[in-house]
Amino acid sequence: MTKTERTYLDWNATAPLSAAAREAVLAALDTVGNPSSVHGEGRALRMLVEAARRDVAALVHAAPAHVIFTSGATEAANLVLTPDYRMGRTPLAIGHLYHSEIEHPAIREGGRFSRDKLTSIPVTPAGLVDLAALETLLEGHDKAKGLPMVAVMLVNNETGIVQPVKLAAEIVHRHGGLLVVDAVQAVGRIPVDIEALDADFLILSSHKLGGPKGAGALVSRGEVLMPVPLIRGGGQEKGHRSGTENPAALAGFAAAARAAIADFADRNARIAGLRDALEAGMRMATNDVIIHGADIERVANTSFFSLPGLKSETGQIAFDLEGIALSAGSACSSGKVGQSHVLTAMGFDAALGALRVSLGSGSTQADVDRFLAAFSRVVSRRRAA
Ligand code: PLP
Repeated sequence: MTKTERTYLDWNATAPLSAAAREAVLAALDTVGNPSSVHGEGRALRMLVEAARRDVAALVHAAPAHVIFTSGATEAANLVLTPDYRMGRTPLAIGHLYHSEIEHPAIREGGRFSRDKLTSIPVTPAGLVDLAALETLLEGHDKAKGLPMVAVMLVNNETGIVQPVKLAAEIVHRHGGLLVVDAVQAVGRIPVDIEALDADFLILSSHKLGGPKGAGALVSRGEVLMPVPLIRGGGQEKGHRSGTENPAALAGFAAAARAAIADFADRNARIAGLRDALEAGMRMATNDVIIHGADIERVANTSFFSLPGLKSETGQIAFDLEGIALSAGSACSSGKVGQSHVLTAMGFDAALGALRVSLGSGSTQADVDRFLAAFSRVVSRRRAA
């Protein structure tokens, strides 16, 4: 099999750089200047950065002034997840971070909170954050130690399941807390509106959208209540994130954000059709495939499935040898495939493996066909074993 025959079905890990983003990156790389310089060159770069800010803000219906650019979602999480806030100039303490059990490690690690200030919120067997458990946790929160902060992701990166963020917001705000929403896997796939979600902060990443890696944003609801900066220095990003901005990465992020909005409905309908064909094909090939979240609201591009008797690692390698790039959920930096913490949180047996197919704007019926042909071979090898 030649390299050109590979089929990329791992868009939730990272989307291929889009042509528009690539063009925007290259043009910005060739533009001289520092966005903080007052001369013409600097001002041209400043205009580019501020245009990018408007495009990223539009993606989540936020005010451009409320977008802080970072090096990615992980940095945005480390900026926002801190016990130290300021209300204007007055320090304000956040006492504890409650996060759903199925958050990405960028959130689950708790940012700048110490371990004893982290509590995870269980999820139901259906894979939804348990709102009754959230309510109970917040009822027990000791406000004398500072306000509660809650982190609930909008779309889970492994299952694609849409979380009840608006309902969580109602509970969090009734208890006087702050809600942080990781919207990394949601933008471009479902409409995201910071006001409608009633979130205090949103976290975004460029490379899941077809923009370059190494760019992201923390989007806030207002400008008064803000975290103490993580990176201090020259005072860029209104002092919230120092360091010279990366105009090339931000131009690419902005191009990806514009594209994510542009053909939203048509793209997602087409991707949903491909995902449905893929799942129907898997069910035709074997009747014991378990498709997680198939009966509840999911984004259109993700299929997370288990084949009893097939370990995640074995399955991933088998598909890789078939020329198909998919994943076993979230990729950890070591490249090792562990048990999916999401499946464990949903109450599945720790021995059950799972694989994730995630599609995107460039996915085709031919990709689905190649996957299904490989799937049949993997299934029959499993039977033979
Ligand atoms: N949050 C979610 C849900 C993700 O899927 C990812 C990427 O894997 C991240 C956060 C981290 O994003 P970044 O690579 O921009 O740091």
